[in-house]
Amino acid sequence: MKHPGKIIPEIFASLGKPAATVKYPFEKAVVPSNFRGKISFDAKNCIGCKMCMRDCPAKAITIEKVGEEKIFRATFALDRCIFCAQCVDSCPRKALKNTPEFELAQYDRAKLQETQE
Ligand code: SF4
Ligand code: SF4
Repeated sequence: MKHPGKIIPEIFASLGKPAATVKYPFEKAVVPSNFRGKISFDAKNCIGCKMCMRDCPAKAITIEKVGEEKIFRATFALDRCIFCAQCVDSCPRKALKNTPEFELAQYDRAKLQETQE
């Protein structure tokens, strides 16, 4: 540091103020209400149009028909998803939404393929 004395006014200015950091992971981090976490899928609203698949920039979502009925399931490649929420915006039936969930790390990459029905 070229001029270490310059930091002294900053130190005095911050004395007595609450900490700006949180003790994560020992305390649960509170995310904003518009946080873009893991996507959740509501099968009863899905019509299988695949607009979400078409618009996903990471090719991270796959919609498949289950059996003969008009029932669909979604598989998310959480190792590719960039949590942009384009799929949420593209879905005409509000079958996709963001959740506040962000603790998704895994040792095994295969566990990052998540199917929701
Ligand atoms: S959040 Fe973005 S990257 Fe992830 S599945 Fe949706 S569109 Fe694809
Ligand atoms: S855009 Fe919505 S309704 Fe269409 S396939 Fe995807 S989740 Fe289903």
